[in-house]
Amino acid sequence: MRRFSQLVFTYKIIEMDLCLGSTNVATPKDIDEFDLWAWSEYPRLLSRFIYLWSNHRTLIGACNIPGDKCSACFTIDGHQKARRRVCRSKQVNFKSSDFSEPLVIGCWRTPIRNSLYCELHQNDEKLTKAPRTNQKHTHAMKLRNSRQWQQQKNIFFGATNCSTTKARSESYINKCSRSFGLLAMVTNCRVIISFSEIFRSETLREIIQLLINTIRISDNALPKIACYDDGCHLVRFVQRHVGKLITDTPASNTLKNTKFYIDKAHWKNHVGTWCKENMSPYATSDLNMINTQSAEQLFSWLKRYAPIISSLGWLKAPLYLLVLFHYKNLWTCKVRPTRHFDIANMVPDSATISLPHAANTLRTTSAVSSSNSDGYLSQAATTKHDPSSHTVNENKWAQMSK
Ligand SMILES: [Zn+2]
Ligand SMILES: [Zn+2]
Ligand SMILES: [Zn+2]
Repeated sequence: MRRFSQLVFTYKIIEMDLCLGSTNVATPKDIDEFDLWAWSEYPRLLSRFIYLWSNHRTLIGACNIPGDKCSACFTIDGHQKARRRVCRSKQVNFKSSDFSEPLVIGCWRTPIRNSLYCELHQNDEKLTKAPRTNQKHTHAMKLRNSRQWQQQKNIFFGATNCSTTKARSESYINKCSRSFGLLAMVTNCRVIISFSEIFRSETLREIIQLLINTIRISDNALPKIACYDDGCHLVRFVQRHVGKLITDTPASNTLKNTKFYIDKAHWKNHVGTWCKENMSPYATSDLNMINTQSAEQLFSWLKRYAPIISSLGWLKAPLYLLVLFHYKNLWTCKVRPTRHFDIANMVPDSATISLPHAANTLRTTSAVSSSNSDGYLSQAATTKHDPSSHTVNENKWAQMSK
């Protein structure tokens, strides 16, 4: 990013932070510290973003749409055109307190020059270049994959008969050196309430983690009706696994009680008996006068930013998306960017709000401090955020007051 656009970006971040409840903002004194600062501020800003926009009906006022339907429903969907280069190492795990088994999230870092791997995973590159020593490993992988596939088949196809599952083949995921893009949650009134980058494929458990995080941060303001084009698999999975693979929490129970439908555009692919009885958008009045295409509309708008997003490094990319979505929402809700919402003390803090941040083991002066060497990080589920603690390094960042 050139210096001028860096300045504009910094200005937008400060304006957004003040809008999201801060009364003073710490910025790096040295421009070389910018990327690290952008990375370290992200989880806090994302939490506030989710809180403000999922509560926009009460904090800003109902959107002027037919039938008083502001925030009646949300759509969750994945998008693969906003990709950026990511490290080819896909076996990066994170143990979230919301699941009994680690999530495989894949590496989110940008590869270093002339390599397919990031700085931390240079050893993986050496391993793939020496296939002979690896034969035993590959055989074990094949065995495991076929077993996993069998299990998946039992869960998915046996349960719903809809062959819409989005899980991609393991070999394809392993080869892919672009990130798989973005998951986003958008209300029927076109307000983006939450999102996350994904680095493998659109897996159910990452979708569930995003939903649970958003429920937690929104303080129960999430619409009780939802649309997802693979909703049948999601609903069956949540119903079966809360209390087992999914930890039994107030948030996971709220998710269990959220009514999911398949949107009309994707309904023709769903042929299972269970699906026809439970997920049909035609057998309900819940979706009357509801825009169920809001996520796709967002993604078609986002396409124009694809060249910029694909050029961003991993430290800066998440915050760039956040700024983009914040200003899009301000425009949708006709709110001035200089408006201040006094929400800093109201936002619950979730340690898993951004999986890459939670899993990041990179030793930095300001980012994560309590991770251990094997890449796992255990954390408490939810704690109230202390607004005074976000100034990560008082000596390094300059203070900007409102
Ligand atoms: Zn609205
Ligand atoms: Zn990596
Ligand atoms: Zn289905």
